[in-house]
Amino acid sequence: MGGLQQYIASLPKTEIHLHIEACVGSKSYHELMDKHEIPHDEKTMALTDFSKIGSLTSMIESFFFVQSFFREPEDFLHVVKDVIAYAERNNIYYIEAFASPSMVLNRGLISFEEMFSTLVSGFDEAEKSTGIDVRLLVDVSRSFGKQNAMTNLEHTLGFLKTHPSRRILGIGLGGQEIGHPCREYNEVFARARKAGLHVVAHAGEEVGPESIWEAIDLLKAERVGHGTSAIQDEKLMKRLAKGRIPLEICPTSNVITRKYVPELAKHPIRRFFDEGLMVTVNTDDPVLFSVELNEEYERVATQIGFSRDEIVTLVKNNLMSTFLSDSEKKARWKQVQKAIGRA
Ligand SMILES: [Zn+2]
Repeated sequence: MGGLQQYIASLPKTEIHLHIEACVGSKSYHELMDKHEIPHDEKTMALTDFSKIGSLTSMIESFFFVQSFFREPEDFLHVVKDVIAYAERNNIYYIEAFASPSMVLNRGLISFEEMFSTLVSGFDEAEKSTGIDVRLLVDVSRSFGKQNAMTNLEHTLGFLKTHPSRRILGIGLGGQEIGHPCREYNEVFARARKAGLHVVAHAGEEVGPESIWEAIDLLKAERVGHGTSAIQDEKLMKRLAKGRIPLEICPTSNVITRKYVPELAKHPIRRFFDEGLMVTVNTDDPVLFSVELNEEYERVATQIGFSRDEIVTLVKNNLMSTFLSDSEKKARWKQVQKAIGRA
């Protein structure tokens, strides 16, 4: 086992489905709780006991609660620090991650501009000292309705006008999938695409294949977050394979939220991979689900039966599914091959 663990740890990786707020470790949020005098009462204890998370709804509840600890712009530097530490622990050199402004703006203490300028400059500094490149997708969110999502898009476009940065890639659609179908966000996505932003969407995590069809046909999502319910629809699997539309699979998350994956050994990633779909491996919410990216790969190898060569293919799929240019991908892959002695 040691051999496999070491091998996976030695692979330089990318991650394309990660929520930055869910990388914040207990040390940081305890510091924030002390700073803002947030009481250690029953509610706090319950919502920060992440081992109790057993559904997407309870995960989102804890996710929002932890976000309520961010009350001043510089609090987001804890996020930057913990995301970089997570990347270092897992040998990750490049991340495309979601940042979720909805709860922050709804509380009214920090503006979009303050939140994102802190994150962008924080990640700029971190890249200079560590070489780790973190790009952001603004989660416009489906939990608060269409108007809120449109407002988040408007903030994003306004921010990019005054703070042009390669660090902000576009928008994503996260939050409660049940009751908030992709089609309601058609206008938001059309406008984002027209403005030249990249667009991705969570779909098929808690709702059937129809959600994935809407994400790719209506929203024209360039990648699908999770997409596990595609296993129920042969035609959809063919379409995803043919279009090389990446699925951002998060194995542990999919088991904990339980909807389409009863246990890891039965994860559809095996079938998706064998059918030629562009599958990638990610953690989603590492602190909430208590999982590291290295562990996800170990589980995919030991519990779902991926060989070492297949693991390398997954690592390559992740890089090829990023929004880096073709020449950057090529250059990065060369470096990876060198690092694993296959160049
Ligand atoms: Zn997610």
